[in-house]
Amino acid sequence: VIELGQPEHSILTTCAYCGVGCGFKAEMKGSTVVRMVPWKDGKANEGHSCIKGRFAWGYATHKDRMTKPMIRKAITDPWQEVSWEEALNYAASEFKRIQHKYGKDSVGGITSSRCTNEETYLVQKLVRAALGNNNVDTCARVCHSPTGYGLGQTFGTSAGTQTFKSVEHADVILVMGANPSDAHPVFASRMKKRLRQGAKLIVIDPRKIDLVSAPHVKAQHHLALKPGTNVAMITAMAHVVVTEKLYAADYVQERCDNKSFAEWSEFVSRPENSPEAFEAVTGVPAAEVRAAARTFASGPNSAIYYGLGVTEHAQGSTTVIGIANLAMACGMVGREGVGVNPLRGQNNVQGSCDMGSFPHELPGYRHISDSITRNQFDAAWGVHLDPEPGLRIPNMFDAALDGSFKALYCHGEDIAQSDPNTQHVSAALSAMECIVVQDIFLNETAKFAHVFLPGSSFLEKDGTFTNAERRISRVNQVMPPLAGYADWQTTLLFAKALGYEMHYDHPSQIMDEIAALTPSFHGVSYEKIEQFGSVQWPCNENTALAGTDIMHVDHFVRGKGRFLPTQYVASEEKITQRFPLLLTTGRILSQYNVGAQTRRTENNQWHDEDVLEIHPHDAQERGIETGMQVGIESRVGRTVMTAVVSERMQPGVVYTTFHFPESGANVITTENSDWATNCPEYKVTAVQVITVTHA
Ligand code: SF4
Repeated sequence: VIELGQPEHSILTTCAYCGVGCGFKAEMKGSTVVRMVPWKDGKANEGHSCIKGRFAWGYATHKDRMTKPMIRKAITDPWQEVSWEEALNYAASEFKRIQHKYGKDSVGGITSSRCTNEETYLVQKLVRAALGNNNVDTCARVCHSPTGYGLGQTFGTSAGTQTFKSVEHADVILVMGANPSDAHPVFASRMKKRLRQGAKLIVIDPRKIDLVSAPHVKAQHHLALKPGTNVAMITAMAHVVVTEKLYAADYVQERCDNKSFAEWSEFVSRPENSPEAFEAVTGVPAAEVRAAARTFASGPNSAIYYGLGVTEHAQGSTTVIGIANLAMACGMVGREGVGVNPLRGQNNVQGSCDMGSFPHELPGYRHISDSITRNQFDAAWGVHLDPEPGLRIPNMFDAALDGSFKALYCHGEDIAQSDPNTQHVSAALSAMECIVVQDIFLNETAKFAHVFLPGSSFLEKDGTFTNAERRISRVNQVMPPLAGYADWQTTLLFAKALGYEMHYDHPSQIMDEIAALTPSFHGVSYEKIEQFGSVQWPCNENTALAGTDIMHVDHFVRGKGRFLPTQYVASEEKITQRFPLLLTTGRILSQYNVGAQTRRTENNQWHDEDVLEIHPHDAQERGIETGMQVGIESRVGRTVMTAVVSERMQPGVVYTTFHFPESGANVITTENSDWATNCPEYKVTAVQVITVTHA
C-alpha cells in the first residue's frame, strides 16, 4: 500500500465495478485520492466493500492512461496525436462521408455498462438524433439482454424485483448460474449471513461454487447440472410444483393471467417435462430435483438470485421466463424476502438498459415502433426518429462483413476482447472504414480504430449509476478529467461536429431530461438523490419520494403476471469425439471483466492469469497436472492456459475466466447466441484440452 498522506476532505461516490453499487467516500488530499472508504450509510453496502472497490482504483492514474486524442488514416499507420477539434472533425467527416456513400444505416454506436446513465443516454441520443438511425446497442447485449426479454414478457419490465436487504427475510435462497462470492462479494456476505441464520440454500450450477460449501453455509441442494440444460432443470422443477399441487393457487388466481397459467401448467405437467424424463439431459438425479422443488415451493419466503450462467445461453431468455414462471406459481413475487433478482455484472448494466441503448427501445423500455413515445422524443429532440429497430451488436458485425455497415462509435467497451469468437469480431472490425474508440486505455478494439478519443474514469466525472436493485446513486467528480473533458462532454462535442447540438452544462440537466421523458424516472433528480442518498426507480408521482424498493406488490407492471411455456431445446454446441469436454466461463474475486482496470492495480498479484479448471478424472486421462500448460481448442479457435486440477468441476466440464487478453478465452467461444436477444452462448463451448508443456 502506498502511503499518500492524511486526507483533508472526502467526496461521496459509487464503486465503478459490479452491480452491487457500493457507496464510497473518496478521501482526498487536494485533488489526489488517498483512499476509498466504504460509506456506512450506503444502502447497497452499509459500510462494507470488497477488494475491488476498496483497493483497485489506482488504474485511474495508471501510466497507461491515454490523455491525447489521436487519428490515423489506416490501422497500419502509426497513431498521430492531434487536437480535440481535429480528432472530432475528422471522425465526424468520416461518418458523414460514409453515410453519404453507403446510406444512413451504415453507421452506429455501442455504449458501455461501465459508463454513467447520463453518458449512455447521450450516446443513444447521438446515434438516433445525429446519425438518424437506431443502430445503437450496449454491452448488456452480451450479458443481461435475456433478462430484459424474459422479465419483460412475464412481469412487464426488465428489473430485479427486490432490494438487497430483502434477502434478510428469505427462508429459501435459490442461486442459479451465479457466483456471488466472486462476482458480487458484498451482497454475497449479506446472503451468507442469512444462510448462517438458517435459511435454506439451493444452488443450480455445474460447478461447486464457494456457496456450496462456504464455512457455516451448506447448500441443502446442489443441482450440478450439465452446461446448457437450464431450461430442462427449471421446467422439471415447475413440473413438480404443478403435479404435486405445491403452487400458490390463490396468488395465481388473483395476480396472474389465469389462461396463461392453465396453458403453462398443462405444458409442464406432461411426462416428458418431469425430472425423471430430464435426468439424462441434466445429469441430476430426479429425486434431487424433486426435493429442491419442494423446498423452494414450501418457502414460506423463497427468493431467486441468478446471473450470467442463466442468460449467456442459446436459451437464456427461456430460462429467465422459466424462473419468472416458477416464482409466480409459488407466489414468490411482491413482498419482502422473495422475488426474482438478476445479479447484474457491471456497475451500470441496469442503467444502460434503462437509458434506451438497445436498438429497439427508447429510455424506459418503450418500443421504438410506438408512435406516441416516439412523438415525445421527436418534440424534445427536434428530430424525426426512425421507427424501425436498428442493428444489435452481432448484427453490426455480420453487416460489416456483408459490406453494409462501415463505421462505429465505440464508447467504453472493448468488443475485440469481450465479445465471443474474437476472430469473427476482428474480421468485422477490419472490414469497417472508420472506427472511433472512446476509452481510458488503448484497448484491444483500438487496434482496429482510426480515431481515439481519451475517456474519463469514474473519478473524473459527475453522473449516476443504477445498481441491480434499481438504485440510482451519484458519481461525484473528485478530480479533473486527465484528458480535459469528461466522457459526457466528449459525446456532446462529437454530436456537434456531426451537426447536431445538445446543450447541457452539467449531467444533472441530462438527468432532468431523462426524468421528463421517462415515466418510471419522473421523480428522479440530483437534488432528490442527495436528499435520500439514492433513489430506486420506479420513482414518480405514484411512488414514495425515494422510489420503489419492492416491485409488483399489488399488481405486476404488465397487470397480470403472464406464464409462458419453456420448451427445452438442446444447444447446437455438442460434444464430439474431437471436442469431448464442455467449457464454461466465469469471474474471480480480484479481477473484473476483461481486466482493463484491475490488471492495472495491485489486485493483479492475487490472480495474474486465466487458468483452466479441470476435474481430476479428465486431467488424469490426459496426463494433466496442476501447473502444466494446456492447449484448449474449440471449433473456432485455440489458446493456452495453466491447468488447475479441481474437484470443483464435474467430469466432462472445464472452466476458465476471461480477464486476460493473453489467454483470450473468447478466442474459443462461438457465435451461438440466445434465440430472442442474440446474447452469446459463452457458457457452452465444446473443447478438447491437451498437454502443451510441463510448467
Ligand atoms: Fe464494488 Fe461490487 Fe465490490 Fe461493492 S461488491 S465494492 S460494488 S466490486
